Amino acid sequence: MRAATVKALNLAVEGEGNEMFEVIRKIWKTGVVTHKLPLREASQRYRGKLDIQPHKCKNCGACVAACPAGAINVAQKGQGQELSIAYTKCIFCGLCASVCKVQAVQMTNDYHLATKNKNDLIQVVRMPQ
Ligand code: SF4
Ligand code: SF4
Repeated sequence: MRAATVKALNLAVEGEGNEMFEVIRKIWKTGVVTHKLPLREASQRYRGKLDIQPHKCKNCGACVAACPAGAINVAQKGQGQELSIAYTKCIFCGLCASVCKVQAVQMTNDYHLATKNKNDLIQVVRMPQ
């Protein structure tokens, strides 16, 4: 059955020169090659999700000023401050981490950011008062 299908697809490719059938034929022959999570850990040098340590933050705003994408923000919320990062904008340049003198924001090698909900890509951290 499978061989016959491949042969039929081969004929379709030869006859029509249809690239789509060529792709289907290759997929059929190759089978599933994707791996289920968890994948291997990314390199330590990989620039992924940011780690924020709110107890270290001095609210200096240096990370906000350095961010070329406008992805990081510090805002007054009620009596306290909130630091937010929008991964919808972040280009993972690492500038926020490099300007923070107290290492309150650091890059990690965590690349698990895929989500179906855009709101999950906004990380908000409340600063201790
Ligand atoms: S995370 Fe660092 S650079 Fe950003 S406001 Fe806090 S102390 Fe300043
Ligand atoms: S990694 Fe770059 S783009 Fe992302 S929040 Fe930090 S400075 Fe902005």
